[in-house]
Amino acid sequence: VATKGVFEARECVVQRVAAAARPKVREVGLDDAFGMVLAEDAPADRDYPATARSIRDGFAVQAASLPGGFEVIGEVRAGAAFVGTVGPGQAVEIMTGAPVPAGADQIVMVEHAVREGTRATTQRAPKPGEFVNPRASEIRSGEAFVAAGTRIGIAEVAGLATVGRVRLKVFEPPRVAILSTGDEVVPVNAAPQGNQVRNSNAWALAAQVRRAGGIPVMLPVAPDEPEATRRLMAEGLACDLLLLSGGVSAGKYDYVEPALATLGAEFFFDRVLIQPGQPLVFGRAQGRFFFGLPGNPASTMVCFEVFGRAAVELLGGQKESTLPLTWARLAHDVSHKPGMTRFLGARLADGVVTQVPGQGSSDVAALVRTNCFLVADAGREGWAAGEMIRVLLR
Ligand code: AMP
Ligand code: MG
Repeated sequence: VATKGVFEARECVVQRVAAAARPKVREVGLDDAFGMVLAEDAPADRDYPATARSIRDGFAVQAASLPGGFEVIGEVRAGAAFVGTVGPGQAVEIMTGAPVPAGADQIVMVEHAVREGTRATTQRAPKPGEFVNPRASEIRSGEAFVAAGTRIGIAEVAGLATVGRVRLKVFEPPRVAILSTGDEVVPVNAAPQGNQVRNSNAWALAAQVRRAGGIPVMLPVAPDEPEATRRLMAEGLACDLLLLSGGVSAGKYDYVEPALATLGAEFFFDRVLIQPGQPLVFGRAQGRFFFGLPGNPASTMVCFEVFGRAAVELLGGQKESTLPLTWARLAHDVSHKPGMTRFLGARLADGVVTQVPGQGSSDVAALVRTNCFLVADAGREGWAAGEMIRVLLR
């Protein structure tokens, strides 16, 4: 149908899915919200902080009186308030988190003052505002503290708890059907013959789907036979997304594309300039998107991360889709044939990345030794040791 470069193909997925995603909304308690996608803005219920707060233990003073000696006229601790006003030459002893008394505009850290009875002295220079977080300096009442379409991670849980959202609206996670194809593929609890392999792709994909916020729905393995493939696909298309593994190459028994075609599928692309994973199919049938991922385990995994993950996230109502790319320093030379973007299994530690040797995209043992993929750009021939290269985290 169409061949695309990696980033062009990903953009196609993002555009198509974002335009079509209509996730349903449900209400949950904060204790069930972790990992879900927020379906409404959670606004700040007041200014944060609600009053000017000290961010140090020390003395609240007028900056204009610094440096110098002060009369300590009282104290204020977190959770309390000082009644009265700090005048020139006066100080109130203050604890971290306590509201800054009226009249004071600077905190002198306790470490920078000498206290003798009711007097304190300091050599600190005037710096109005130092160690004071003004009212509303973090966020104003009514502004979105956590925005709709955000996946609720640990910081978002802190945010929702801060604004008191014990009940909140989240999106229903998309149900994602996983259908492996191949006469040689047997269930993972089976003892495979020499000519068989266990269905590891379905399990890896299920974990990847969960991480992307979806609910995996595992179908039985489809044999390399058009009618059975078609029947299981039709079942999978009842979910929000269908992931197929295997059967998309040009082999004599690769039935995925023809079977999809009999279900009225529209194909957006069926080849991507990516290695591993060239024959990669993306389309829509019966109102549902599908991916035909190549069956070799490294291909399946990389293609899901680069393309499928975005689809699951967007179908789940996320505003943004994740492609965790970063840069790292190469431990060694890398040579590569331009024309394809290659994802090479590698290990990243302390900002330095080293390729993991292996037997290619069927080598799951090598995959397990990786913790990331080097991204060899389609436009370059090679990299020298010490150069920066892009890395896809996994
Ligand atoms: P295919 O894309 O159907 O040509 O499959 C390529 C290779 O990937 C096969 O020869 C299998 O060794 C392997 N493979 C296919 N499907 C799976 C699967 N579900 N789990 C693990 N390996 C698979
Ligand atoms: Mg096959």
